[in-house]
Amino acid sequence: SVRFASSSFKAADLTIEKRKTLNPKPDLSPSSLGFGKFFSDHMLTVNWTEKGGWEAPQIKPFQNLSLHPASSALHYSIELFEGMKAFRGVDNQIRLFRPMLNMERMHRSADRCCLPLFDKHELLECIEKLIHLDQEWVPYSTDASLYIRPTFIGTEPSLGVSRPNHAFLFVIVGPVGPYFATGAFNPVSLLADPRFVRACRGGVGAYKMGSNYGPTIAIQNEAVKQGCQQVLWLYGEREEITEVGTMNLFIYWTNEKGERELVTPPLDGIILPGVTRHSLLDLAREWGEFKVTERTLVMSELMEALNGGRVLEVFGSGTACVVCPVGSLRYKGQEYEIPTMKNGPELATRFYKELTDIQYGRTRRDWAPVI
Ligand code: PMP
Repeated sequence: SVRFASSSFKAADLTIEKRKTLNPKPDLSPSSLGFGKFFSDHMLTVNWTEKGGWEAPQIKPFQNLSLHPASSALHYSIELFEGMKAFRGVDNQIRLFRPMLNMERMHRSADRCCLPLFDKHELLECIEKLIHLDQEWVPYSTDASLYIRPTFIGTEPSLGVSRPNHAFLFVIVGPVGPYFATGAFNPVSLLADPRFVRACRGGVGAYKMGSNYGPTIAIQNEAVKQGCQQVLWLYGEREEITEVGTMNLFIYWTNEKGERELVTPPLDGIILPGVTRHSLLDLAREWGEFKVTERTLVMSELMEALNGGRVLEVFGSGTACVVCPVGSLRYKGQEYEIPTMKNGPELATRFYKELTDIQYGRTRRDWAPVI
């Protein structure tokens, strides 16, 4: 889309208002951080109106927002977000991980939400300035990181269901701990129940909109009630396998032709195009050691492969955990063991090491620019 393409806020116009007294920092040791509980001293905000266009971006003390109660984000979920991380490397340098992939995804979400477009490079530069200012919040640990949450909301102060003439973009950041606190993978158990879907064809599952997430919580709770940790999202009559929790899904198996193959569902509109997914596919194709396939997978194929002992590893991929092994599956009242851990998990471990080495500067690669 070329809508608003020529107009964007500019990092060069950024104003910075520093906090007079900094907040006392919480215990930043990886084990006590958890996820999303703590926020840094400052935030980035950019306001937009149809009439005046983009205003100058601001970095200011972290603070509550004041919103008109009719704001369209609150009524019609005109809201999108991103999730990315900054890492303090073994050389004490701070790195992002393929941040332009997040900027591009955010831009696509904005376009789909009828929110104004912006220059992706300018936004990234503003985010880098925020991280510089709050750099002491990036944990001094290779087991933790600074989570970055860009958010974009419609703030139209009227109840008409229409494209907002007011919008507000902001970025908050905060330290987060490791997904696998003990350092070792903990395999998760999944509930696969075809009665529930996360997204559908023609819908907005490929965009990172808040409206995709709220409705999943009740199903996640249902999974926990049935003794599982995450939901395996199925779709349609054929029970297509789409995603797991808030992660993309990978299956490493011996396929029906007897070939070693890594399979993941395609970007066909019903799954989120994960940055981690993209990176695992890139790595696997670079290695060239086994077949790598993006294609629609259905439950009956997975069941057949499990029964035939052909499944090697099943794992999710995402920014939170990098990779998350799957240990079992509950489907139509039956429990199925998945031998991911018994098989090492060789491939999941290799992906995990390869990506975290890049993120923490142990391996140099242009995927992780120093900021
Ligand atoms: N699927 C969904 C539904 C997600 O929310 C996420 C997290 N952004 C992912 C997959 C993984 O994406 P990424 O690798 O970019 O974190």
